[in-house]
Amino acid sequence: MMISSLRDAGKVLLQRFYSPRHFLWRLSSVEVGRVALTFDDGPDPTFTPQVLDLLAEQGIKATFFLIGEKVAQHPELVRRMAAEGHGIGGHTWTHREIVGVPRETLLEDMGRCRQAMFEASGVDSVLFRPPRGRVDLPSIHRVCRAGYCLVHWSRTYSDYKCDGVEPLLSRFRSAPPKAGDIVLLHDHNADTVAALARMIPEWHRQGLVFPSLST
Ligand SMILES: [Zn+2]
Repeated sequence: MMISSLRDAGKVLLQRFYSPRHFLWRLSSVEVGRVALTFDDGPDPTFTPQVLDLLAEQGIKATFFLIGEKVAQHPELVRRMAAEGHGIGGHTWTHREIVGVPRETLLEDMGRCRQAMFEASGVDSVLFRPPRGRVDLPSIHRVCRAGYCLVHWSRTYSDYKCDGVEPLLSRFRSAPPKAGDIVLLHDHNADTVAALARMIPEWHRQGLVFPSLST
């Protein structure tokens, strides 16, 4: 069964079946307004430092899902993420989609990314996000049974479109993150950085807090 677009009801069942240690799409504890910001597809030599600077200025943590070959090119950025208290996780070596990939090939790819992150940062992370979020039941099962935690998301603002700061701000404001959300973002473009610089103070005023996902 292909569930390339996972519906919330399916994610509820998967998080229950595998436990949040192996499948996570929302935070379990919502009472204190916790929201997890996650950034995919880095590290990027231009935009990742800007995101890290912004997170430091705002005093919040996030989690980065990293492409292995970019980790190998920019290990110092991954070291900085870990040193500043952010979570890191794998996003495959070359951003390959995982549906239909044989188990051995998939685990070798994920292991290579995990090793590169470890060599860069000293953090051995089992967090993993599938590229484009595309999964089916066999691929979810392979990832979870291999001991990884597959992290999906409960809210996305399509910032990958890079269609401008104002459109992104209006999407943030029309469906703001709520307690327990895991938010999908990207550290590969200027719009996301500029829009977040405006939104994070607003979210702070609304009482939200931003932890990293632990490994
Ligand atoms: Zn991605």
